Amino acid sequence: MANIWYIQVNRYCNNACHFCSNPSNWNNITYERGIELIDDFIKIWYHWIIFTWWEPTLSPDLPKWIEYSSKNKMDCRVISNGMMCSSFDYVKRLADSWLWLIHFSLYSYIPEIHDFLTDTQGSYIKLLKSIQNALKLWIRVQLNCVINKYNQNHLDKTVKFIVKNFPQITHFVWNNLDPLMMRKTDIALSTLPDFDIAWESIKKALVFLDSTWRSFRVERMPLCFMRWFEWASTETRKIVKDEERIVHFLDNRETIRQSWKHWEHDKTDECNNCDLTTICSGVYESEKFYNYVKLKSQRLTSEEKQSIINKIKD
Ligand code: SF4
Repeated sequence: MANIWYIQVNRYCNNACHFCSNPSNWNNITYERGIELIDDFIKIWYHWIIFTWWEPTLSPDLPKWIEYSSKNKMDCRVISNGMMCSSFDYVKRLADSWLWLIHFSLYSYIPEIHDFLTDTQGSYIKLLKSIQNALKLWIRVQLNCVINKYNQNHLDKTVKFIVKNFPQITHFVWNNLDPLMMRKTDIALSTLPDFDIAWESIKKALVFLDSTWRSFRVERMPLCFMRWFEWASTETRKIVKDEERIVHFLDNRETIRQSWKHWEHDKTDECNNCDLTTICSGVYESEKFYNYVKLKSQRLTSEEKQSIINKIKD
């Protein structure tokens, strides 16, 4: 069971993604507060600590926290937009503090689309440079991607582009767009994805990744859009493995312990007659934002359902 602790170290960013789910409030944590949180983590023996949101590399204390975690035998990783890491010297500092895994967020293999979504000219080029730098320094790289209207029809092409140019990358994560706290501008609202179109291109990506022995996860996608790949749903895995997360937010939510109740989103009448309902989290924010998504009850034999559970547990 992989229990993970997320620490928001700051709430400001050098990108301005239209769909950002944790917009800037200019808060950050001090070096001492970061050490306190890591010490709490050591006491309860979680498996991973993740430095995140919104751009942990903008915190000058990040290398020191990573070093402290590593010295205390904690596994840690960083989720980054790949702007700061375009400097080789900066990535060297992270590598010297024993960082060995970093997630970068890439939205599209098409530079103009990535730059448009980050609302930051040149962010695509910097991100590719960051990937090169990290790999050169033997830091493992994994890629995150927010599913949205502007990349939904070529998610598979983005993956193939990355695998062709950076074959060392073996793990990919898709997060379906979280509209709850994003800016409510016309552009931001225009990024809400069409689940049918998105799933068509993710499916091609997953088949390709599976055939090349790579791994992947998909978050906030109802299982009726994930037939044959249900085991790759982030929420379903957490439900089946009874995992929990602790997230330290830099806003009035502060520290939240998330268990199976947090993986359950909204269910509709379709879900009541669905054989997957006990391992499916449903659709996220169905009333306010995703009310246009058509769920479809699934029919599976108990053996088919058990095989999904077994695959996750294996
Ligand atoms: S109908 Fe509901 S329970 Fe069934 S797969 Fe779709 S979202 Fe999940």
